[in-house]
Amino acid sequence: MTDSSGVTSGSDPDGGIDGRDRREITHSLAGGPRPGLRRVATEEAFSTKDVADELGKVATSPTESLDLSLVKAIYGGGRSSALLGRLLDLEEERLADMDANGVSVQLLSLTAPGVQMFDADSATDLASKANDQLAAVIDRHPERFGGLATIAPQSPRRAVAEMERAMGELKLNGFVINSHTNNEYLDDPKFWPILEAAEGLGACIYLHPRSPSDGFSAPLRHYGVNAVWGFATETGTHAVRMIMSGLFDRFPDLRFCLGHMGEGVHFWFWRLDFLQASLQRSGAGVRLALTPSEYFKRNFVITTSGQESHLALDYSIKALGADRVLWAVDYPYQPTASAVAFLDSAPISEEDREKVYHLNAERVFRLPSA
Ligand code: MN
Repeated sequence: MTDSSGVTSGSDPDGGIDGRDRREITHSLAGGPRPGLRRVATEEAFSTKDVADELGKVATSPTESLDLSLVKAIYGGGRSSALLGRLLDLEEERLADMDANGVSVQLLSLTAPGVQMFDADSATDLASKANDQLAAVIDRHPERFGGLATIAPQSPRRAVAEMERAMGELKLNGFVINSHTNNEYLDDPKFWPILEAAEGLGACIYLHPRSPSDGFSAPLRHYGVNAVWGFATETGTHAVRMIMSGLFDRFPDLRFCLGHMGEGVHFWFWRLDFLQASLQRSGAGVRLALTPSEYFKRNFVITTSGQESHLALDYSIKALGADRVLWAVDYPYQPTASAVAFLDSAPISEEDREKVYHLNAERVFRLPSA
């Protein structure tokens, strides 16, 4: 449907199964991006040739990871995929796309699954090289790019050294971790040195999705549901585990960012708080100082990547406050023009739009403010 501002939005993709009369659900603005808005996109993917080559080897490996189908599709096909080309490109098509759509800054992160499917030595080495390449492109375009450092949780000790180098020497803006590593989650004490380092450095960890861990994946192997629903259940579960484990009493200043409108976790606030209260009464679970929703509002921010629903945005701002919602495109997996039209046309105050478009990102990821 088209409203008076020329915004096309859809919420009811009930077209025919062959797609010929499927309703458009992306957004578009008749006059193009609104002038005068600063737009900082915070979940923007890239890859490097080294990492892509190594994922090409994973594509032919005997792993049973649910990530394999995605890895095969992008990295296993003779390098001809247009998507792979857009991931490897940093300074040509990407900058042109940003210019055409009024995107001021992309906060770059090595695309999922990052280095988390490799052995510890390769992963540590590839993370460090990817971070060097990321810092170099930011140096060439300091007004257009920021970057989240990749780390290899497979070796927490070496990851901590890389985190210190990334925030110190490389002056990157935070970290990205793609959910589980070898089916293990960050509430495991083996990963606590990484969390302690992030807290000490005052740097936010973007907890980006990957496919669910092996024990969690069977029902998601059908009907193509994994790439959206599987990612959200995996990553949302990861966040809920961390909250319920008491991690944020140990690390009260630790900050995480969740994409895809918070992976839906805040929709469950009442039920999670009810669960926690029930557990406390019966002496089960871990005793927590705060309620789950209080931790989420203190220790997490969320982004709008790939979730262009005005209704979900409205709920998120009401549930979390406008200071905790950041804009993102999820380039090159999602179209930039639609993500821009979505927030340009969102029925929110201009003050909140500025927060979501750039002020929150500048604060959370310590990006320059223009
Ligand atoms: Mn993404």
